[in-house]
Amino acid sequence: MIFRTRDDGLILPGHKIERAIATYVGDDEIGLEAGGIFIGSYRGPHVEIGSCTTPLPRDLRRPTLFDRCDPGHQAAALEAWRESGGTDTYVGEWHTHSVDDPVPSDQDVRTWHAIMRRVSNPLIFLIAGRRSIWCGRGRGGKLAGLAVL
Ligand SMILES: [Zn+2]
Repeated sequence: MIFRTRDDGLILPGHKIERAIATYVGDDEIGLEAGGIFIGSYRGPHVEIGSCTTPLPRDLRRPTLFDRCDPGHQAAALEAWRESGGTDTYVGEWHTHSVDDPVPSDQDVRTWHAIMRRVSNPLIFLIAGRRSIWCGRGRGGKLAGLAVL
């Protein structure tokens, strides 16, 4: 799975990421939203997603809500930053919707804009559904959908 942006940047999530997220759109898990953060690095115009976190015990999982309350997500990003000598960092986040083909909710867009106000690097926002994924890149308060190759 590769996401191509309009300015030819590529977003590269590895198979590990796809597998981790696929778990949460299966029949056993799709009834409650799930999510986590992406940890990765920037190479020129490209964002390489190296790993992701998955739901942790203190997160809130509801049929139409995922709230990333557990401090473990932030801790994982900090640990990656330290272990990589400052190259691997928070590059975005993902969550699921209990539908076939997800689109961002108004709440999603508000949340992402709040994150973009705190982080100046390009960020990847992904929503996984049963059948397809929605993926966008946000930077400087602008959100653009990405083509999935
Ligand atoms: Zn959502």
